[in-house]
Amino acid sequence: MASKLEFMRFPAPDGVNGWWESLPPPAPAEAVSSERRYDWVVIGGGITGLCAARRLAELAPEASIALVEADRIGRTTAGRNSGFFVDLPHDISSESYSRSVEADKADVRLQRHGIDYVRSVVRQHGIECDWRDDGKFHASVNKKGQAALAQFAEGLTRIGEAFDWLDEAAIAKVTGTGFYCGALFTPGCSTVQPAALMRGLASTLPSSVKVFELSAVKGIEHRGDTKVLSFASGKITTKRVILCTNAYAATFGGHPNGLLPVYTFASMTRVMNPDEVMKLGGARSWALIPADPMGTTVRRLITGRICVRNHFAFRPSLEVSEADLAKAKSLHQRSFDRRFPMLKNVELEYTWGGPLCLSTNNGALFGQRGDGVFEAVGCNGLGLSRGSASGKLIAEYALGQSSDLVRQLLNQPHPRSLPVRPIADVAVSAAIWVKEFTAGAEL
Ligand SMILES: Cc1cc2nc3c(=O)[nH]c(=O)nc-3n(C[C@H](O)[C@H](O)[C@H](O)COP(=O)(O)OP(=O)(O)OC[C@H]3O[C@@H](n4cnc5c(N)ncnc54)[C@H](O)[C@@H]3O)c2cc1C
Repeated sequence: MASKLEFMRFPAPDGVNGWWESLPPPAPAEAVSSERRYDWVVIGGGITGLCAARRLAELAPEASIALVEADRIGRTTAGRNSGFFVDLPHDISSESYSRSVEADKADVRLQRHGIDYVRSVVRQHGIECDWRDDGKFHASVNKKGQAALAQFAEGLTRIGEAFDWLDEAAIAKVTGTGFYCGALFTPGCSTVQPAALMRGLASTLPSSVKVFELSAVKGIEHRGDTKVLSFASGKITTKRVILCTNAYAATFGGHPNGLLPVYTFASMTRVMNPDEVMKLGGARSWALIPADPMGTTVRRLITGRICVRNHFAFRPSLEVSEADLAKAKSLHQRSFDRRFPMLKNVELEYTWGGPLCLSTNNGALFGQRGDGVFEAVGCNGLGLSRGSASGKLIAEYALGQSSDLVRQLLNQPHPRSLPVRPIADVAVSAAIWVKEFTAGAEL
């Protein structure tokens, strides 16, 4: 009997992604435009799908694999984030990023697995994406932030992770601004130019992987053990599918499933001139996250730009409005001005948003959702390291391999279901508002 899974939401432009815009023009895209057959199809060309397709090809070199992406690889969420490959606990729904000792240790194991995998690919292929193993600063602006950092430091001590404290003068020496009153440095975080990384991962895939871009899957029809994927102008037939569509899986079949498409927003300045670079001082490149998870993330890039990220908005429609973008830009401008009063004339050149895929219990979807259909969905705000790991591991699982990490992902909780809309909309938006309000000075 035939059954069908329909895709209800597709990526929208959601502003102008500065990481993508500051790269050279991409090679032309090849879209699905006829009827084809592959052994495997990976849906979604974000970090999870790119790692899944690569791992499949590594482990099953004789198999034919299609990686299909609705937009351009590097232009969507995986290429529009702040570029932190976070190794340590990073529960953004908590007050201080930590959970229990066991959960924290398991997170670190998984996240480092993902980071090591992608780093090895970057090194092996010489992917130019400004990959840096320079660590990150968690900075605070007041006593409340210092207390949150102290709590985070206690959590790190409990799981045996290293960190260093920086006082006000020491963090000012790094950032050039006197805005922060202290920071905690953790060495294991890597950072990248995310759009460059995604493009590089796609262009260095083994030759058994065929990449299709500008090719949104509209639906998957099951005919016995065969699946037929339909596109605007073509079809792909396959026996096995891996879904790596993160937030776009929130409304599969029109039914809410506990996955919450929560947008966050970023802006990037133009390139600073030598005079502005001198006025700012500090190190040429650094990466900083706020003591309060709802505060402002800042990166100074080696290219002479500064990137700021803050603000969250629940958008089940999976697109943001011009008003959302205008609000985000004005919040970013305010955050930038408070931190960098010496850079009054440095404008924000690009502003954009992208959907995270959160759940109220940190749950995610990993495993087999039906005959021959696998999924690795639900980044919970940490898609670079967790998506790398879960993409690699879903390929291993789909090929019948098991390991402690595969079992860890299979045993994680499913996203907790929410009340029906519009109650869910009001509850999630109110929770975000309260958390942002309490983040206050960290914004
Ligand atoms: C501003 C911002 C800052 C962030 N900062 C960080 C950070 O510093 N570190 C971090 O770890 N995370 C960060 N994130 C989150 C991170 O970007 C995501 O967790 C990550 O992109 C998830 O990767 P993914 O591959 O699972 O999903 P995605 O990147 O969302 O990829 C899913 C892909 O599926 C495609 N797709 C969807 N539907 C279809 C369809 N029907 N057919 C074909 N293709 C489809 C989409 O176009 C998309 O490319 C940030 C996010 C934003 C928006």
